[in-house]
Amino acid sequence: MPLSDANDYLNGEQIKHSNLSRFIIGIGQPIGLITMLLGLLVLVGYAFNLEYLYRPIVNGPATNPLTATIVVLVALSIEMSNRVISKKMPVLLGLVATVLCTLYIVEGASGIPFTTTLVPFQSIVDRDLLLGKSNSVGVNTAFMLLLLALSHLSYIFKFPLISQLLSFTALCFPLISITGYAYGLTAFYGSMSLLSTTLGVLLCIGTLAVTADKGGLRALLSPYIGGKIARIQILLGYFVPLLIGYMVIRSLVNSSQNSIFGIYVVSICWFIALLVVVSAIMQEKVDSKRREMEQMLHHSAMTDELTQLPNRRFFMEVAAQKLEEDRELVAPLTSWLLMIDIDHFKKVNDTAGHEMGDKILIEFARILNKFVREEDLICRLGGEEFSLYLSEMTKEEASIVADSIRRAVEEIVVPNYTEKHGHITTSIGCAHTSDKEGVDHALRLADSALYLSKSSGRNRVTFS
Ligand code: GH3
Ligand code: MG
Ligand code: MG
Repeated sequence: MPLSDANDYLNGEQIKHSNLSRFIIGIGQPIGLITMLLGLLVLVGYAFNLEYLYRPIVNGPATNPLTATIVVLVALSIEMSNRVISKKMPVLLGLVATVLCTLYIVEGASGIPFTTTLVPFQSIVDRDLLLGKSNSVGVNTAFMLLLLALSHLSYIFKFPLISQLLSFTALCFPLISITGYAYGLTAFYGSMSLLSTTLGVLLCIGTLAVTADKGGLRALLSPYIGGKIARIQILLGYFVPLLIGYMVIRSLVNSSQNSIFGIYVVSICWFIALLVVVSAIMQEKVDSKRREMEQMLHHSAMTDELTQLPNRRFFMEVAAQKLEEDRELVAPLTSWLLMIDIDHFKKVNDTAGHEMGDKILIEFARILNKFVREEDLICRLGGEEFSLYLSEMTKEEASIVADSIRRAVEEIVVPNYTEKHGHITTSIGCAHTSDKEGVDHALRLADSALYLSKSSGRNRVTFS
């Protein structure tokens, strides 16, 4: 495990967090694709006169071709926004959807028919209306789609928090409709068909998912305590009032107040959800600071300050885990422990000063780190002693690595030192590890081998 990977190991918590958000972001585009296909299916229903495709409940409300067209535009924009290099196409789709929604809303207020001339299959819509069947966009659907189109444009133009707020607000409309279907309140879903409601929910999820690593959603998806509490609160905050509302509405079934009461229930649910998200953002802010501090403490407790190599504590902890993993190795492959000690280091301090000694230790650590593979482990045991855990090697391979280190140390050039005092040399003791006896035992064996290297003249490698 090289130095950079040891840092990743120490910062593991942060990696876990972004993985979760990344997963949710990943579902944004597939949902965009599914929604687009469903929207196209509605248009196919109009094209081939298959009424069940655009009116799922017989004589219930239909999904208007304008709704389906706007859904397809927004969904296609979501689908394309992270795939294509150019932003032009997704922006264009989002803008067309925005203009169509705005025209429809203005049409409702002014009575001038803008959209009917722009959208296909108007003759089928007119026929349905003549037969007394419901087939219109509905103001709530138009507002929902406008919010979603604007939400996605905000995302493309890098305003993720605005995008989230717009999508979250848009979610109110299909939720009201769902509540209407659940409570049996026609006034609630009005002209929003079950299909339009589903398309709306899917589009809301799609536009929200792409910003999952930002703001409120990031806090809500956090794997830490703040996120966990928020997720439970959101579920309870939505379903409990919904259930209570259902029971009350059953008892008020003949009262004229039931639709007002339904709006009240949905508003309460939405407000609770908003409160939860705001509190999750605040909690996540405080908690992420705490985690950062904790990581810094953990990192400094496990790292040698001078060389920035892992320290003895980290080494003993991780080497024990590695030994467990390496127990499966079959001879002649095994793992090896090297004890590496700079020769006559005391003399460096005595002749060139402590500061030069520190400089040499840093350079020595940098050279050692070059020999460390992903599966190995390095540390500064203390003073001028280092240890290297080599995984999955034959004795010959371990010997080659040890001797290469010895030779690389001889090549070290430290300005103002080596040219005056000669090469730096190192003695190395090697021992093979065994899961039965543990790391301590292997270190003791390597230390004895190191002692032999020292006593037989230094600058050499000895195996125990
Ligand atoms: P040998 O070849 O037998 O290993 O001799 P040596 O002089 O290297 O070994 P010894 O254990 O006698 O001396 C180690 C020296 O390392 C003593 C200490 O002053 C020095 N030392 C330990 N830690 C540091 C450090 O962080 N910085 C500096 N500059 N010197 C250190
Ligand atoms: Mg020494
Ligand atoms: Mg020593």
